[in-house]
Amino acid sequence: MISIVIPSYNEEGNVSHTAEVVIRIMEKNNIPFELVFVNDGSSDGTWGRLEAMALKDERIVAVNFSRNFGKEAAIFAGLETARGDAVVLMDCDLQHPPETIVEMYKIWKNNDIDVVEGRKSDRGKENKAYRGMSLLFYKLIKKTSGLDMDAASDFKLLDRRAVDALLRMPERLTFFRAMSSWVGFKTEKVYFEVAEREVGESKWTTRQLIKFAINNITSFTSAPMQIVTVFGVLTFIVSVILGISTIVQKILGESDAGFPTVIILQLLTSSIIMFSLGIIGYYISKIYEEIKNRPRYIIRDVVRKNDRGEL
Ligand code: UDP
Ligand code: MG
Repeated sequence: MISIVIPSYNEEGNVSHTAEVVIRIMEKNNIPFELVFVNDGSSDGTWGRLEAMALKDERIVAVNFSRNFGKEAAIFAGLETARGDAVVLMDCDLQHPPETIVEMYKIWKNNDIDVVEGRKSDRGKENKAYRGMSLLFYKLIKKTSGLDMDAASDFKLLDRRAVDALLRMPERLTFFRAMSSWVGFKTEKVYFEVAEREVGESKWTTRQLIKFAINNITSFTSAPMQIVTVFGVLTFIVSVILGISTIVQKILGESDAGFPTVIILQLLTSSIIMFSLGIIGYYISKIYEEIKNRPRYIIRDVVRKNDRGEL
């Protein structure tokens, strides 16, 4: 059996249609499945619909968060709830074509493969600025942590082995896309075309995306901290050169001229120090977040019927 995990945030216009489409495709291909919807604290009628769907169909499980915890948290809640021998993650807006699940399933079933990774063969409709930003972000990730993530997506099939490995990773600040390649395992790729969003709009604001990018870079690499060291070395070299030249000038009796130099150096070094403190502070705040050891999410309700149709 496979579990299909679908994080849903304000998707009241999508959930039942998505479920219907996925169920039809799974039935047509004789794939035993369960659908795990995670309602990420939606403020619309998403939960009402999910609850009704789970009550009607024992193959649908509905999980409800106490508030919005973000897609990452919803993914992990789905992984924890899923009982399948493999888990597929997909978006609620049908941007991840459900036909691809069949392809992933076959690869997993017929080969000794643990992770089937959906890669975007094109990126669908995105605006230029967003595209530019995400390219820069993936370049940075690749440079600093060695993970190749452009074209990667959250659309994946994971064997139980990989799911359990992911669930054993204790960090609070998760980045599913990178973590699922960090755990290793035998991986195969399938390519899919990003479809247009069915109903509603993308839930991301620019501010959220920037926060997401910075969060994920810092979760996966400490390279920005090393920039601090590089700055330190550079300013040290400059100060040695300037120091020698100042002493030489003093001995030759031609000092007293460098007031602008003093100001420029003052500004330069203090801004580097502030910037470096900012980077260090950012990592400390992440350590603080982790050390609090709070749960990744809080579940309010779970609706799941057993084989006999009981709750
Ligand atoms: N999502 C979520 N919590 C959030 C934001 C989004 O669970 O706080 C879900 C959303 O319902 C959808 C998926 O994450 O199933 C992808 O969201 P969206 O389509 O808005 O993002 P995009 O496709 O633009 O990356
Ligand atoms: Mg989408």
